[in-house]
Amino acid sequence: MPRKHVNAAGTAKSDLPQKTCVACGRPFSWRKKWARDWESVKFCSDRCRGVGSGS
Ligand SMILES: [Zn+2]
Repeated sequence: MPRKHVNAAGTAKSDLPQKTCVACGRPFSWRKKWARDWESVKFCSDRCRGVGSGS
């Protein structure tokens, strides 16, 4: 019987929510550092977050 690949927490990687970065248009997955404000996350990285802001 095939076993599902899961991490120590018992959560399959594919179960993580995903969003599309508004800066680069690439899909990115939930990260623990965004646990508190995932609803407002729009960028996949700090680099993308910096695009369009400032000079
Ligand atoms: Zn991005």
